[in-house]
Amino acid sequence: MKIIPEPYKIKAVEPIRLLSRREREKKIRQAKFNLFKLRSEDVYIDLLTDSGTSALSDNQWAGLLQGDEAYAGSRNYYHFVDTIKEITGFEHIIPVHQGRAAENLLFTTLLKKGDIVPSNTHFDTTRANIERQGATALDLLIEEGKSFDSDYPFKGNMDLEELRRLVKKYGKKRIPAGTMTVTNNSGGGQPASMENIKSASRILHRHGIKLLFDACRYAENAHFIKKREPGYARRSVKSIAREMFSYADGCTMSAKKDGLSNIGGFIALNDGKLATDVSNLLILLEGFPTYGGLAGRDLEAIARGLREGLEEDYLDFRVNQVAYLGRLLEEVGLSPMNPTGGHAVYVEAGGYLPHIPRKQFPAQALTVALYREGGIRSCEFGGATFTQTDKKSGRIRSVPMDLVRFAIPRRVYTHSHLDYVAEVFTEVGKKKDEVRGLRIVYEPTRLRLFTVEFEEI
Ligand SMILES: *Cc1c(COP(=O)(O)O)cnc(C)c1O
Repeated sequence: MKIIPEPYKIKAVEPIRLLSRREREKKIRQAKFNLFKLRSEDVYIDLLTDSGTSALSDNQWAGLLQGDEAYAGSRNYYHFVDTIKEITGFEHIIPVHQGRAAENLLFTTLLKKGDIVPSNTHFDTTRANIERQGATALDLLIEEGKSFDSDYPFKGNMDLEELRRLVKKYGKKRIPAGTMTVTNNSGGGQPASMENIKSASRILHRHGIKLLFDACRYAENAHFIKKREPGYARRSVKSIAREMFSYADGCTMSAKKDGLSNIGGFIALNDGKLATDVSNLLILLEGFPTYGGLAGRDLEAIARGLREGLEEDYLDFRVNQVAYLGRLLEEVGLSPMNPTGGHAVYVEAGGYLPHIPRKQFPAQALTVALYREGGIRSCEFGGATFTQTDKKSGRIRSVPMDLVRFAIPRRVYTHSHLDYVAEVFTEVGKKKDEVRGLRIVYEPTRLRLFTVEFEEI
C-alpha cells in the first residue's frame, strides 16, 4: 500500500498522556468496564468515535472569531446556507445542533403511526426517532453488505428487489419516505453506489415517495464512488456528491462527521411545505431558524468544514489512513471487515478470543483488554451494545456478530499513533487467555451502550 502523508502540518498540539498500568486498572474498574464512562483525559488513543472529534483547520479557527452572534439573520447563517445549497442543490436549509435533532424534527413532521421507512440500514438514532413516532424502520441491505468477508465494493447498497416489493405492497400512504445512509455507519462505513442510489430513487419516485439521505458521511461515499464505480474516476468528488444529492429530495446531516466540525447539523429539503412545518417545530425545540441551536461561530466553522471535507487530497489521505489501520490489524492476526470502510475499522472479537463465550461479551472484553494494555479506547458493536430482551416474549434479540469498532477522528492522529495501536494488539495477543468475559450488573432500557455496567467473570 502506498503511504499518503497528511495533507497538512501541525500548528497547535494537544498533549496526551498514557497513565500507568496501575492507574489504568483502577480507572477501568471505576468505569464498570464500560469505556463510555472513562474520562477522556484517562485515555491515550481515543478511537471511540469519529463524531465531533475532528481537528479544526486554521481556516475554521479563523472563522470562529468571525462569528456574528446576532439572534436573527447572522452573516454566518447565510454563508452556511449558501455552502450547503451549493454542495447539495437542495432549496431549503435548516440548521440544527446535531444529527439526531434533525431526525427528530423531520420524522415528527413527516411520519404517522403505522408508517414504514425503508433504508439500506438505519443508524441507531434514526431508528429510535422513527420508532418513537410509532412507525417501522426497515433495513433492506443487500446480502453482500451483511457478510463480513465479501469484498463487494458497495456493501452499503439497498436491496432493490425488496424495495420494489415493499413499495408495491404499501405505496406512499404507508411509506412517506425511504432513506439511504451514506456511507452506511452501522454496516461498517460501507458506501452505496451511484447506480444503486439512482435506482432506489427511481423506484420510490415512481410511487410518489421521497428519498432522503442520512448524509453524515456523504463526502466519503462520493470518494468511494470516484475510486470504485466505472465512469467516475475523472469526476471531482464535489460533482459526484452533487449528483448523489440530485436523486434525493432532501437529507439530514450531522456536521460532526464530514462537516469536520465539533457540533452541528442540518436538514435540507426541496419540499417547501414540509420545510415550513419543520421550521415551525424547530423554533419550538432548537431555536430561531437562522441559528437552529447553534452559535454563529459554529455555523461558520461548519460552512468552512463542509468545503474542506470535500477536498480530494484530504479524502485520499483519510480513507487511506483507515485502510492502513485495517492492514496493520490484519498483520497482527485479526481479520478486519473487508473492505475497510470510510471512517472505521471493524474487527470480529469472537474468533480472536475463542475462549470467551458470546454470552460473556467477547467484543466488550476486547475493548477492556486494549484499554488495560495501552490506554486505547474503542467501541463495542456487538452483544453488549445491541442484545435486547423482548419484554413481551422474553426472547433475546441479539446481533449476528461481536464487533469492535476503531473509528478514526478526522485529521487528529498520525500513522505512528496507529502503529502504536497495532503494537498494543500484539501485546494483548500474547496473553489472550488472560482476557476475561463479562457479566452485566446494570442495564438501562434504551441505547444501552452508553450506561451499561459490567463485572469480570
Ligand atoms: C452520527 C450519526 C447520526 C446522528 O448524528 P448526531 O450528530 O450524533 O446526533 C445519524 N446518522 C448517522 C449515520 C450517524 O453516523
